[in-house]
Amino acid sequence: MASLQPVRGTHDLLPEQNRLQDHIANTARDIGELYGYQRMATPIFEFTDVFARTLGDTSDVVTKEMYTFEDRGGEQITLRPEGTAGIARAYMSNGMQQMSPVKVSYYGPMFRYERPQKGRQRQFHQIGAELLGVEQVAGDIEMIGYGAHILKTLGLWDSITLELNTLGDPESRAAYRDVLVDYFKGHFDKLSEDSRNRLEKNPLRILDSKDEGDRELVANAPLFADYLNAHSKEFFKGLTEGLGDIGINYELNPRLVRGLDYYCHTCFEFTTNTLGAQGTVMAGGRYDGLISTMGGPQTAGVGWAAGVERLALMVGKSPAGPRPVALIPMGDAAEAKCRALAQTLREAGIAVELGYSGNMKKRLKRADKARAILAVVVGDSEIESGRFQVKLLDRSEAFDVAEYRLIEILKQFRELSSVKAVQQNTSSKSPNDHQWRLALQNMDLLEVLGQESPSTDWENKLLQKLITTN
Ligand code: ATP
Ligand code: MG
Repeated sequence: MASLQPVRGTHDLLPEQNRLQDHIANTARDIGELYGYQRMATPIFEFTDVFARTLGDTSDVVTKEMYTFEDRGGEQITLRPEGTAGIARAYMSNGMQQMSPVKVSYYGPMFRYERPQKGRQRQFHQIGAELLGVEQVAGDIEMIGYGAHILKTLGLWDSITLELNTLGDPESRAAYRDVLVDYFKGHFDKLSEDSRNRLEKNPLRILDSKDEGDRELVANAPLFADYLNAHSKEFFKGLTEGLGDIGINYELNPRLVRGLDYYCHTCFEFTTNTLGAQGTVMAGGRYDGLISTMGGPQTAGVGWAAGVERLALMVGKSPAGPRPVALIPMGDAAEAKCRALAQTLREAGIAVELGYSGNMKKRLKRADKARAILAVVVGDSEIESGRFQVKLLDRSEAFDVAEYRLIEILKQFRELSSVKAVQQNTSSKSPNDHQWRLALQNMDLLEVLGQESPSTDWENKLLQKLITTN
């Protein structure tokens, strides 16, 4: 074996990181459903043409970053560097025009040969969404609202800025393109080599060049805003007013562009200054010309994509999972008893920590490590009496509980905890933890919390209450 290291720019997602990334992806999926977006998936590799044609042969992704190879059948194949092209291809392959408007979200790995650094990998993950078949600005507003909703739910909103620009319609673009090419031609000798190559094919892309010399030229370049026709201005006005309607602030950034001709009107990025150089976490816009560029019917489209690793850096930690119940068998008969009990509880949706070996002390230690909320010690006498010692591990309190009631108590506890978990994970505005209180009320348990907001010790209070009532 050549090396035990993963390939440069790729990473193993160990359980903690994987859990965090799943949390982000699942949050995006669930929020998508509130807006009517269904998750779909396209293959991780496609014919090279799918990307080369849609991303354009002067984009960085195509010229420098694609993982392309010839497969054993002699086909030119590329590992997908982004999600939109594959979805547009799938839209045509599957005759999805019939379902218009098509509202889909996706999640999965993307591949780009880039210089690895913080927030930049060669295999990374994106969440994304596409809306196909809607030419009204209402689609753009919904898309941005959906993206913002995810960032809010992940608790990131305070450190995010929405940057917004318009690329106008094809007529405005053509007008702007001409003056832009003239302007840069006048400074040809000062342009970077990359930008010289872009000048004829893709001049707008020069506007977001990272080259210092280019940036100086760009600072004095003519502004797109001065070349927008009436329709384009109207569309952009609709967008900014619509964002006002849904309470989303933005900053205008006239340098924000997408290079290719099929992009139009809306162009946006959600950025942060908490990640150093890699500040864009979510980027999107309108691409009404994409599907026709690929040989399909004229189809309006708008979407965004976000880097999951960058979001994960910002989120930091995934919300804790449910705390398990530890079963501690003492002796062979108890092993069998606990095995059966564990299966029953797990099938009822209750997390159970059941060790494989060891004495009571060792097992209790393991229960602690697993963050168990309570431990049930089972020996011969417990099996005989059908009553168990239930220890609340945070409080070193113990209760004597009949087996059948234990199962009922834990089911109730699970139900209430999951209401609580939903609230905590979505950081929903619930000053009185309304839903949870309602649930407690329905179970005559409201007094558990008194009038104050639930304390950190709510799990213990609740369990104790459930154990000691009736
Ligand atoms: P950048 O300017 O950072 O290279 P980009 O314009 O290439 O970004 P897009 O193609 O718009 O990025 O992809 C959308 C999002 O995917 C980015 O905003 C970022 O969060 C994420 N992303 C892109 N490339 C990478 C990468 N190599 N590693 C990690 N995340 C990435
Ligand atoms: Mg890039």
